[in-house]
Amino acid sequence: MTQLPQLPAPGRRAYPPRTSAFTKTFWEALAQGRWHTTCCEACGRQTFPPRPICPHCWSDRVGWRPLSARGTLYSWTRIHAAPAVFAAEAPYAAGIVDLEGGIRLACRLLDTPGADWTPGMAVEMTVLKYEDGPLFAARAVAP
Ligand SMILES: [Zn+2]
Repeated sequence: MTQLPQLPAPGRRAYPPRTSAFTKTFWEALAQGRWHTTCCEACGRQTFPPRPICPHCWSDRVGWRPLSARGTLYSWTRIHAAPAVFAAEAPYAAGIVDLEGGIRLACRLLDTPGADWTPGMAVEMTVLKYEDGPLFAARAVAP
């Protein structure tokens, strides 16, 4: 199991993720800093977000496997005109991360004062621990 750094975050999540009986496994693990997703037992491919049916071969034989905590930044943007629910947090950075192992995901980027984002740079996943639950985000890996 991959263990992510856990960072305290103030207040409650602005837009808490919807959870289901199936994704509860993911969110409960994330709350403990554990980072994993579903992996198809028929074709061996991981999916993110976690899914009860494999989108590659449609098998319903899926298990849980660790995700890599490391990846590279594929692209990013800084959001100034945020949706109303995130307005208090703007401006903020969001990006697309390619994890080692092939999963591509979108998430918030944690700014490092005095540094900026560059596609191709090394990032690591972290858990933001809000009062009402976790969110995942990426931060730059110190060179
Ligand atoms: Zn499959």
